[in-house]
Amino acid sequence: MSINDNNVLVCHASRPINKGDTIYYNYTDPLKGTALRQQHLLIGKYFECKCSRCEDHTELGTYMSSAICPDCKTGYVSKSSDDDWTCSDCQKQFEHANIGHIVKCCTDKFDVINKKDEKELEEYIRHVSKVLAPNHYLLLDAMQRLAGVLRDAINREPHPTKKLMRRKIQLCHDLLPVLEKVLPGISRTKGRHYIGVTVKYAIKICT
Ligand SMILES: [Zn+2]
Ligand SMILES: [Zn+2]
Repeated sequence: MSINDNNVLVCHASRPINKGDTIYYNYTDPLKGTALRQQHLLIGKYFECKCSRCEDHTELGTYMSSAICPDCKTGYVSKSSDDDWTCSDCQKQFEHANIGHIVKCCTDKFDVINKKDEKELEEYIRHVSKVLAPNHYLLLDAMQRLAGVLRDAINREPHPTKKLMRRKIQLCHDLLPVLEKVLPGISRTKGRHYIGVTVKYAIKICT
């Protein structure tokens, strides 16, 4: 949605629409996990979403609400019913209380850290990566905030270090494939991260 020079509200399609295609509209934050999106839609829009992502416990293969399997350590445990979470690898089932507790601890920790502080965000990402799937929405949130903090630092510094720029590029590279799946087509969020990736060329020029 944008307001053009004539003060008219314009609704843009984020990707090409063919004649006869169903047109979809997103009423919630695609960067949140299914449980949070559904809760938001139920409270604010009074419906239970049945879209392909909400119906898929892997969330289109992103595992955005999953944890690393405490048993095999290689698979991702996703909520397969109200009471159970199942591992994608060893197929072991866990009670909701077990995995739900891990996610709650990570959520509580995220609530109290300073989200404008590079070190605190890096430390949070390092710790939480040990228990949550790499694309978990909490990690994505922390990574996006860190990318913003680094962007400001790069803009502020007359000579930003290569380490700083490399980290920024890495974050954008990690975030873009997930955004491509849950936010297909053009968007402001993706635009911001693509700009981040172009920093790579700045580094090439510097070296
Ligand atoms: Zn949905
Ligand atoms: Zn497992």
